[in-house]
Amino acid sequence: MATMKALQITKVHESQLITLDRPEPGPNEVLIKVMASGICGTDIHILEGGFVADYPVIPGHEFAGIVEQVGTVVSRIQTGDHVAVEPNIACDNCSYCHSNQQNFCENWQAVGVTLPGGMAEYVVAPENAVFPIGDLEFEEGAFVEPLSCVLHGVQKARIRLADHVVILGAGPIGNLLFQTVKVQGARSVTVVEPDQARADFAKEAGADQICRSLDDLPGEAFEVVIDATGVIPVMMRTPEFARKGGTILLFGVPPKTKVEFEAFTLFIKGLTILTSFTSVRNSIQAIELLKNRRISVKQLVSHCLPLAEFEQGVNLIKNKQENVKKVLITPNS
Ligand SMILES: [Zn+2]
Ligand SMILES: [Zn+2]
Repeated sequence: MATMKALQITKVHESQLITLDRPEPGPNEVLIKVMASGICGTDIHILEGGFVADYPVIPGHEFAGIVEQVGTVVSRIQTGDHVAVEPNIACDNCSYCHSNQQNFCENWQAVGVTLPGGMAEYVVAPENAVFPIGDLEFEEGAFVEPLSCVLHGVQKARIRLADHVVILGAGPIGNLLFQTVKVQGARSVTVVEPDQARADFAKEAGADQICRSLDDLPGEAFEVVIDATGVIPVMMRTPEFARKGGTILLFGVPPKTKVEFEAFTLFIKGLTILTSFTSVRNSIQAIELLKNRRISVKQLVSHCLPLAEFEQGVNLIKNKQENVKKVLITPNS
């Protein structure tokens, strides 16, 4: 039997490179040779014990690769296709799935969380979670999942033509958010980011205005305020920047603590507060926007590392050094 290498999180705070049997695709599954696999905050949470995962687990849910083999009843995907994967696997047979809310599926599984993921030379996924990316590069394909989440959030915020939008935080997700908001027709996008390198980068990537601190941001100036930090004190200040009747989208993954808003402010300003959890059938949209260059992601990649350097990649992200943006693992290079 053919073997492969994979990065396994054995338990909280412990990972190792292992050799195991290469998986065989079931009848409706696709075997993918992983070419690029993004390290996400969720992977870091799994490593550090802050997220639901079935240990031991091979992490990695933001990846792209080449189809190596297809199961006997697979019809839409062919060997040799370049593909990305929607890692959230819904059952399509529960009350949420039947209401087109697959992100809340009662029998939810996720590649790289509860199922073996993309931090491996090979991974299997059900055919209905696999999407051809055409001639996109694999590095770009690794952004299909995070971009899908961003598209879901931005669509929930119902940005109208010529809205003024502010995005708090300009990491890779903040960057995808402001590009998407521009595609959606916003009149201006302001980005708040204290880190100089990230701020410069946001400016280059097309942000109309950069503020280094919330204290420099004009009050009550934006129809839509989007938090991409998940930092509680930042989230708590969002209502002051929203215009009356405005919308606040809390997009960044927050900690399990309380966030406080002054009830009267929310009332008198008639604010709508939204959250967004993963995505719902946004993969094709994400791929099309990347293919058409409406959204560009290659400049978001700062590091490509081999499998054995997964933990170094995690540390690069955690230490927030200036030149670190998205860190990709390339298991087959
Ligand atoms: Zn992710
Ligand atoms: Zn379901």
